[in-house]
Amino acid sequence: MKRALITGITGQDGAYLSQFLLEKGYEVFGLIRRSASADVVGERLRWLGIQDRVRLIDGNLSDISSLIRALRECEPDEVYNLGAQSFVKASWNQPLLTGQVTALGAGNMLEAVRLVRPQARFYQASSSEMYGRVQEERQNERTPFYPRSPYAVSKLYAHWLTINYRESFGLHASSGILFNHESPLRGIEFVTRKITDGVARIKLGLANELRMGNLEARRDWGHARDYVRGMWMMLQQDQPDDYVLATGRTTSVREFCRLAFAYVGLDYERYVKVDPAFLRPAEVDVLCGDATKARRVLGWQPEITLEELIAEMVEADLARHRARL
Ligand code: NDP
Ligand code: GDP
Repeated sequence: MKRALITGITGQDGAYLSQFLLEKGYEVFGLIRRSASADVVGERLRWLGIQDRVRLIDGNLSDISSLIRALRECEPDEVYNLGAQSFVKASWNQPLLTGQVTALGAGNMLEAVRLVRPQARFYQASSSEMYGRVQEERQNERTPFYPRSPYAVSKLYAHWLTINYRESFGLHASSGILFNHESPLRGIEFVTRKITDGVARIKLGLANELRMGNLEARRDWGHARDYVRGMWMMLQQDQPDDYVLATGRTTSVREFCRLAFAYVGLDYERYVKVDPAFLRPAEVDVLCGDATKARRVLGWQPEITLEELIAEMVEADLARHRARL
């Protein structure tokens, strides 16, 4: 039985990846950071009904000794480094914490793997945010980076360190440059989930407007379930490498609003209000990925469409709010 250690197991991707690996017969371990609100930690694992099937080890990406202990306890074949301060907007308010967790935390994990478990395969959760002010219309593994937030700068450090550890120490370390991927388990502060939650509340009469930031930003949105499969595929290759995972379709926030409101028979223009509080100091205007390499080498391609994603997210938020009524 293979063993996997996942940092960020309580997040969106950590939960779906755990489910995927359990179905493949893995023993799944996850790093969990201590919280005073322990009762709500693990909500996503509970949503998927797998909370009792994963083994949680307490630790923090900022504390290398805890990572070393976790690796010794788990002796993993595969390590997925998904833990991060992952919200772009928050990274301007907490730039150094973002650097400590998202950049140096990845460094801590790589160093711990090198020292304790160098035979383990390592996955780094890199991000399309690294392309920032895009240098090519469609971004692939060779497109130059131009990060536009402390988050993106931190991810770039972790990305290059992953490559450096591969080249310097021969670690089987791969970096997945993943474009935005969403699901009913997406954090409520991210735009897609904020919209589907808003649609549900408005539909049920719990709210009458939705305050948003830049409606013209465009993203390449996929479903997290498709993307965690791609992470695993990268680690099954004989040679470590870097891969873009994306759908190749880019959609504006405005269009996402239109589709999500239309799903419940509402016109978004009646409810969506632009509020400057949600604008960012620097914006990533458009992202559109080219996942040709992942398709060719890994045989990966997304299976869930944007329309299916929106339907699943709106239904889940309707169900959540109905349960509370
Ligand atoms: P989430 O924000 O849902 O999850 C982040 C996870 O990191 C949580 O489990 C969180 O724990 C954990 N974490 C935060 N700080 C620390 C810390 N100091 N030590 C240990 N763990 C910590 O992110 P996603 O699941 O959406 O994304 C997974 C990874 O992929 C992230 O690194 C993200 O930046 C990256 N990524 C995501 C994309 C997306 O579209 N979703 C796109 C590209 C990259 P807690 O529950 O305690 O807060
Ligand atoms: P990101 O791509 O990792 O920053 O993911 P987000 O989901 O947080 O944001 C995607 C895009 O939506 C960005 O360009 C935001 O500026 C834009 N956006 C517009 N309104 C909002 C909003 O109210 N909240 C968030 N989170 N993003 C918004």
